[in-house]
Amino acid sequence: MSDPQHDTPDAAGGIAIIGGGPAGLVAAIALARRGVPTTVFERDAHPELAPRFNPDRSYTIDITGHGLRALRHIDATSYFDARLLPFRGIQYEDRVVEDWPEPGWTGSRGDILRALTSLITDRHKNDIHIEFGCRVTDIDIHAGAVTYTPPGGTATTRRFDLVVGADGAGSALRAAMERQVTGFTVQRKNLPNYLTMIELDRLTDQLDDTYLQALATRPFCIAGAIAGDDDSPGPRWFCGIGTRRRLAFSSPDQARRYLRQNCPRVLDLASSRAVRRVMTDGPNETVDQEHRGARARVVRWPVQRGREGQCEGLRRQVDVQHRRASAVAKTQPGGRRKLPRVRALPQADGYNYSK
Ligand SMILES: Cc1cc2nc3c(=O)[nH]c(=O)nc-3n(C[C@H](O)[C@H](O)[C@H](O)COP(=O)(O)OP(=O)(O)OC[C@H]3O[C@@H](n4cnc5c(N)ncnc54)[C@H](O)[C@@H]3O)c2cc1C
Repeated sequence: MSDPQHDTPDAAGGIAIIGGGPAGLVAAIALARRGVPTTVFERDAHPELAPRFNPDRSYTIDITGHGLRALRHIDATSYFDARLLPFRGIQYEDRVVEDWPEPGWTGSRGDILRALTSLITDRHKNDIHIEFGCRVTDIDIHAGAVTYTPPGGTATTRRFDLVVGADGAGSALRAAMERQVTGFTVQRKNLPNYLTMIELDRLTDQLDDTYLQALATRPFCIAGAIAGDDDSPGPRWFCGIGTRRRLAFSSPDQARRYLRQNCPRVLDLASSRAVRRVMTDGPNETVDQEHRGARARVVRWPVQRGREGQCEGLRRQVDVQHRRASAVAKTQPGGRRKLPRVRALPQADGYNYSK
């Protein structure tokens, strides 16, 4: 261990899962269903104490394929029915370009975590112990010792029989393995692939929230809905613009010009306030916030001008499916019928986007 001062692990044994994101919680539930208890260490607060979405970095996750299989495996689909929106496919240029016939959902990462933690509370609270607000700072791979700092506490070390890394892209466990396990290497690749998020906060009642909406293909621009709640009854929409270069705008006008040229539909669907946010940047800010009657310390992230994302595969898929759908539409009677287009209304600030 790097800090001998805290190197007093007890002999607790059992399984530690580092990271209470979607992967860590699903793994904990799968183990609990087989009668195997786990301790999950999660650096963030309980998802019920955090806002469900953050306009600056929320993105809509669709759960299909492997995600559906995992949820069926842990018998969690009813929890997702209750909290997320059903997913039926992708629309582009007012046509369905991808049909998803099986069950599927869209929602924010917060929705996913809330669905999984409520399942844990209902069915597995004796087998899954989650330490929220608990950052793991060190792992002794060979001893199975995990050092973590509980909220307001001091660093503590516990030994486990098995340590599972589910701590995401910047994994502390992976870094520890690189340092401590001879021959363990990680191949890294930087993809020239960025995602800029914009909240679509106007006219979205004209979009079908059971579909992801491709708004442009070059650059690839895809919008998805997240279910509303007591604070915002209607669904909220977030749109990601995938680019090979990081987008950076020096003024709101420059951002608008870019959008007008490259994904004009965004300008119908986003208020000028939402567009202005795209070019704001600033340091992370930690604030105390009241949420559902409880106080929680949350990190408010700055607007990210470009976050790494992987849009290229999806863009290609939408392009190909759209060409196919258009070809079919030309040969089938009634096939030319399109879904109604979004009506463009003037922006509240009177800005003239067409000039
Ligand atoms: C723009 C965008 C769109 C996406 N869309 C989709 C989609 O449509 N469908 C889909 O399946 N996926 C999508 N993804 C990917 C999806 O977000 C990730 O695959 C998913 O969140 C990975 O889950 P995870 O649990 O492995 O990791 P994470 O969600 O990163 O969770 C890791 C957890 O570990 C915790 N943690 C990290 N380090 C520590 C530490 N040292 N101590 C304690 N806790 C720690 C973190 O707080 C976090 O809660 C998208 C991603 C992006 C960026």
